[in-house]
Amino acid sequence: MSAAPARATACRWCGRPLGALQQRNGDACGEAACRWRADRERRREQALHALQRCRDAAPARQRAGLAAAPVVWIQPLEAAQVELDDDERAEHLDFLMRVAAAPQDFTRDAVHAYPARAQRAHAADAPVCGLCAGRCCLLGRARHGFIDGPLLLRRAAAAGGSLAAAAAWYAARLPPRHVRHSCLYHGAQGCVLPRAARAPVCRGYACEALHDARAALATPGAGVLLAGWHPDAAGAMPQVAWLRAGARAERTPAAGGDAEARRRRGRPHPR
Ligand code: SF4
Ligand code: SF4
Ligand SMILES: [Zn+2]
Repeated sequence: MSAAPARATACRWCGRPLGALQQRNGDACGEAACRWRADRERRREQALHALQRCRDAAPARQRAGLAAAPVVWIQPLEAAQVELDDDERAEHLDFLMRVAAAPQDFTRDAVHAYPARAQRAHAADAPVCGLCAGRCCLLGRARHGFIDGPLLLRRAAAAGGSLAAAAAWYAARLPPRHVRHSCLYHGAQGCVLPRAARAPVCRGYACEALHDARAALATPGAGVLLAGWHPDAAGAMPQVAWLRAGARAERTPAAGGDAEARRRRGRPHPR
């Protein structure tokens, strides 16, 4: 018979001695910061176990690849849709018209750090950004979708019209509903702007998770396990997709156990 594991006598996080009740409940003291860290750690362990259950439940033909693949963790955005109201629409149109009137006054350094010409999307982009649901588009809310003078000039040149017409074209692309707290162009199916009409930063930005997934797929035949999970979502199962170089993303069977996972699974590339 194996001995019961020894109880912790000091807080794992701050080192304070633990009372008898605290020792029975775990290894954290009563401080809010320590309890928060302990909860987070517990959820991380639950997620790792859930991930292992996903690997175990996968069809035999997937198992060796799943066991060997590195894991890229992604925090999916809670992409609830809200109405775009008249005030937001009017404010955005006003901004666009001000850009059209003085395009030289509206340039964005962040935008111009990325190539102006559209680059081809990497094979990892659609599955990774699809699982994420476009967290980086939250930044587009306060920045008017990163629209600026050079972008309007480009649109006007491509369409052969005036800057005011280009501004009106962008205003007319606003969807009736968009993702709460996110860019006004962040619709139910992702960005509603055609890829070529998006700002360079929208086409070029890649977060660390996306960089990691792209790097993992650089070797022919290599795979990566995408695990969508939020550390503050108590009890939530990771949504897991297995992506291999040159192959479509495959969902492991255990990934789609709840309605939220099914909803996200159907979501296309948001950016
Ligand atoms: S680059 Fe893709 S994965 Fe990264 S935050 Fe943006 S949408 Fe999400
Ligand atoms: S990709 Fe589209 S939705 Fe995202 S920030 Fe850019 S314009 Fe907005
Ligand atoms: Zn403590």
